[in-house]
This record gives sequence, C-alpha cells and structure tokens, in this order.
Amino acid sequence: MRMMLIGQRYRCQNVECGAEIEVKKASIEGRSNPRCCCGAEMKKPYTQPVLRTFGKDATVASEFQHGGDRR
Ligand SMILES: [Zn+2]
Repeated sequence: MRMMLIGQRYRCQNVECGAEIEVKKASIEGRSNPRCCCGAEMKKPYTQPVLRTFGKDATVASEFQHGGDRR
C-alpha cells in the first residue's frame, strides 16, 4: 500500500506525453501507481532525495530513543 501525500508529484512514464500531476489531497492508493489520462503509469520522479533525508532523520531519532531506554 502506498500513501499519496500532498505536494508529491507524479510524472507520466510516456515520454511523448510528459504530463505531471501534483497531489492535492492525501489518500491511500489502491494497489498501484496512478494512471495518466493517456493510459501510462505515473511515477514519482522526485522521491529519492526526500527519502534519503527522511531516512537520516529516522536514524537519529531511533538512536536518541535507544539512549533513553538504557537509562
Ligand atoms: Zn500521459
């Protein structure tokens, strides 16, 4: 299951189409990526940098919690 978050952008995988959508309302997707009006699958082209930043923060948070547990 995927989450569609507000502000996330999806780009059509059909290079001849190149349509882009921005999520305006957060929701849980059914089972796959959304589809463009041309029928091609849409994917999130800008996901990776966001995920890397989020992962770094998550590691810091988890270390912090671990230190608290040992006390
Ligand atoms: Zn398209």
